[in-house]
Amino acid sequence: MRDDTDYLPLSWLSQVDYCPRRAALLLNERVWVESVDTARGRAEHERVHDRRVERRGDALKLYEYTVFSDSMAIWGKCDCIEACRCEHGCHIRAADFPVALYPIEYKHGSVRRENSYMIQLCAQALCLEEMLNTTIPCGALFFISAHRRMEVEFTPELRATVRTRAATLRELRESMRVPPASYSAKCKRCSLREYCMPKVKTSAKGYCQRLTQEAAGEVEF
Ligand code: SF4
Repeated sequence: MRDDTDYLPLSWLSQVDYCPRRAALLLNERVWVESVDTARGRAEHERVHDRRVERRGDALKLYEYTVFSDSMAIWGKCDCIEACRCEHGCHIRAADFPVALYPIEYKHGSVRRENSYMIQLCAQALCLEEMLNTTIPCGALFFISAHRRMEVEFTPELRATVRTRAATLRELRESMRVPPASYSAKCKRCSLREYCMPKVKTSAKGYCQRLTQEAAGEVEF
């Protein structure tokens, strides 16, 4: 059994997928830089973060449901889980009948099938499967502004990717390693671009960091 502090937030799997260096900077160096995108995303997400259960007949909606996986040592919250009566389903506290589960992750911005989104959603499903001994074949991304739902099938490939990203996240955490930057189109949208300096060569970056340390009095002349 793992210690509670070993569990990492499953939302960071999408950071690892986006860029391992970004995940390491966030996780190991506690860097956070707000951008228009992150601020908008946070504001829209906060609106849906309201823990409650809605019930209509044999259908329930669970908001802000905490999930975890011992095998991957991750935890997180599902924005919304739809639970419908199903003879072969699992049992949850909120219902006195077996249910089939369908997780939904809220997203901001334009409707798009982004890998990192699907990984986060699938990670939630894997947690639920492990917690409740059930099978969840698919879930959905819900784009708040566009008010559109996109179904995501939890294929064997997607499930394997989630486990690989979870292993990478753990390795980054345990080694405290920050991988070198690799400049790509993603960097243009990355809120850590200024801090990361992905176009600067390692030696120049080290020089800048030394200057910063000297300015802070951490390095002796
Ligand atoms: S700027 Fe590019 S290399 Fe640096 S953390 Fe962001 S995505 Fe990764």
